[in-house]
Amino acid sequence: MSDSKNLQPVRGTHDLLPEAARVQRHVVHTLQTVTKNYGYQEIATPMFEFTEVFARTLGETSDVVSKEMYSFSDRGGESLTLRPEGTAGVARSVISNKLYDFLPLKYWYTGAMFRYERPQKGRQRQFHQVGVEFLGVSTPLADAETIALGWHFLQQLQLEGNLRLEINSLGDEASRTVYRTALVAYLERYKTSLSADSQERLLRNPLRILDSKDAGDQEIITGAPSLKDSMSDEATAYFAAVQEYLSLINIPVVVNSRLVRGLDYYSHTAFEIISDGLGAQATVLAGGRYDGLIEMMGGKPTAGIGWAAGIERLALLLPPLEALPRPVAVIAMADAQEQYAFTVVQNLRGQGIMAELITSGNVAKKFKKANKINALYAVLLGEEEAATGRLTVKNLDSGEQQKIAIEEIKKGLSL
Ligand code: ATP
Ligand code: MG
Repeated sequence: MSDSKNLQPVRGTHDLLPEAARVQRHVVHTLQTVTKNYGYQEIATPMFEFTEVFARTLGETSDVVSKEMYSFSDRGGESLTLRPEGTAGVARSVISNKLYDFLPLKYWYTGAMFRYERPQKGRQRQFHQVGVEFLGVSTPLADAETIALGWHFLQQLQLEGNLRLEINSLGDEASRTVYRTALVAYLERYKTSLSADSQERLLRNPLRILDSKDAGDQEIITGAPSLKDSMSDEATAYFAAVQEYLSLINIPVVVNSRLVRGLDYYSHTAFEIISDGLGAQATVLAGGRYDGLIEMMGGKPTAGIGWAAGIERLALLLPPLEALPRPVAVIAMADAQEQYAFTVVQNLRGQGIMAELITSGNVAKKFKKANKINALYAVLLGEEEAATGRLTVKNLDSGEQQKIAIEEIKKGLSL
């Protein structure tokens, strides 16, 4: 470790220092509170899985699998991958634990995710997500409810800037088959102008070209046929019903027919919530329906819809958190009361009061320290206090002083 490079965090990773950790907790706590009203429970899956869990489900031509995964062989020679996202692990867990015997299931999760990407503002190699999965119900109502939950969650966070909900339908399997043919016929005409990645996708997963971030690809895509024209009547009706439910509860929707999402396992509804306050990394929450996923992984056919949100991106838009509560400073007036002061600070903490023992220095210095930790009150302990258990409490803002019995402190100070 003498090489100073090793004392830097790995590129794209960050320490969560107390302020950032507090922001993350706040986001997670907000999700926990909101999801409770929608009947969700927490689930936590391992931070790494067999590589196949992600490679097969996300699709080999997806950006995540083709270039972003942290994969390694463990000492037993197994290929493992640090999770790049949460849904595949939850789906694996549903199969491993035979949870599909208990449908419907509503889960929320949070945790670190790992992607080998070029780090920039709002884009890291280790980042954190919160997300939800609603399994076992394939109705437009379930889609609307899941989207509403995401909207509700972001509103609860009171993010700065405007949010826009974009949705699209990827149709059912039949719609996508028809569309794939139309799309390939169109893209073949521009084949040599497509990026190398997209030329590869043309053979293996042409729909994903719509999600390309390459500027040249984007231009070609502008003229591509629309998925809407290939949709079956059922898929069209499903999508209309989702939008109708959302309008019933006044959630504004923008239909974006180019929205496809980067992963392979989506069908019907796909959606993103986008902030106008973020520049290039504008998507804060994204998700969709993945009815085929669990079956594709080898489990029983199980409907599912979910979304995930990047906590670091949300943090960029959060208004300042409430100020931290102010502690009580416990001050011994003389050496003779130092031990008593320790019992008092512990007593206060036992009563649920945030208290700090101010040690060393003369009384003036101790007051300075009390101000430095932003204490609201100082508890002053002299001979009389030690003898009677009635403590002198000084409000450090107003200078007002009062005597309160130690067991009355919590009530007396309305802390
Ligand atoms: P992008 O288009 O920005 O690469 P994505 O489609 O790869 O996003 P998802 O896989 O849908 O993203 O992940 C959901 C959310 O997780 C994103 O909307 C974003 O808020 C967050 N996220 C994704 N990748 C990163 C990253 N590398 N660093 C920080 N947050 C991320
Ligand atoms: Mg990405």
